[in-house]
Amino acid sequence: MKRLLTRLVASRGVQGYFDLYEVPRERLESFDLPERADIFAPGGLPGGSLWDSLESSGLRWQGWNWRTPQAEAFAQALQSIESGDRDVCFIYTAELDAWLHREGTQGPGVAACLDAVEQFVRDAFTTSARAGRPLWCHVLSDHGMVDVRTHVDLTGRLRSVPFRAGRDYEVFLDSTFARFWWRHPGARVAVHEAFATESRGRWLDRAMLERHGAWFADHRFGEDLWLLEPGAILVPSFMGTQPVAAMHGYDPEHPEMTAFYASNRDLPAGLRGLRDVRGFLERECAALAAEAAA
Ligand SMILES: [Zn+2]
Repeated sequence: MKRLLTRLVASRGVQGYFDLYEVPRERLESFDLPERADIFAPGGLPGGSLWDSLESSGLRWQGWNWRTPQAEAFAQALQSIESGDRDVCFIYTAELDAWLHREGTQGPGVAACLDAVEQFVRDAFTTSARAGRPLWCHVLSDHGMVDVRTHVDLTGRLRSVPFRAGRDYEVFLDSTFARFWWRHPGARVAVHEAFATESRGRWLDRAMLERHGAWFADHRFGEDLWLLEPGAILVPSFMGTQPVAAMHGYDPEHPEMTAFYASNRDLPAGLRGLRDVRGFLERECAALAAEAAA
């Protein structure tokens, strides 16, 4: 049923990533789950994205995303480097993320996937050298990963509260945090009281959310956010009933949430987080376009 529903939604013009996961069916109408456009294509994000800039740069570019298996994307990009038919090749692969979730950070599939990425980078440099063209290489991840060591079940706590989800308040249970929208003022007090004895999570204050660009005045992503400590996940959650071996989505200041960026180009000192990446890569593309024109 879930698969069929997912296919139906996908056939109704939803172009982005979409999964109903385990959201209670009767509450689905409360949430806006699908990506409506392809976020890896021009026009896919409000306020524009790197793809819009690439599209107007005059550079010949191609992007591969999770829709193409990693090995296939690597092979096609190597062909492009060989033939010189593209100025920019962008590959987004979610396979390392998937292996990490499945096995944890020490898993053999994780190691093999990292080896494949390393081999691709080596091949890219060998191929570009053979073709006699320089290669500007940027390898980055969008988050770290923490091995899961404890599961937290909030359903009992929520059941003990004399207010009903969907009526007195709305809740969305992600893997690492619970988000609330309050309809009855008593519900907020009661839920806060019920969570007070769960030491593996905490309510996020506005200052913390603002610091990480996650504060929205209209509360579209929740009025109150309760975040788990690194290494804990919600089981069950709306993302699934089966636990995973590793997870992301924790306090960005936790050391294991650190992402990765390596390049043979100089990285600017101000490159601190994912929000800085677009501007930097756009400047790189502009420099590339200027070189191509010279
Ligand atoms: Zn993930």
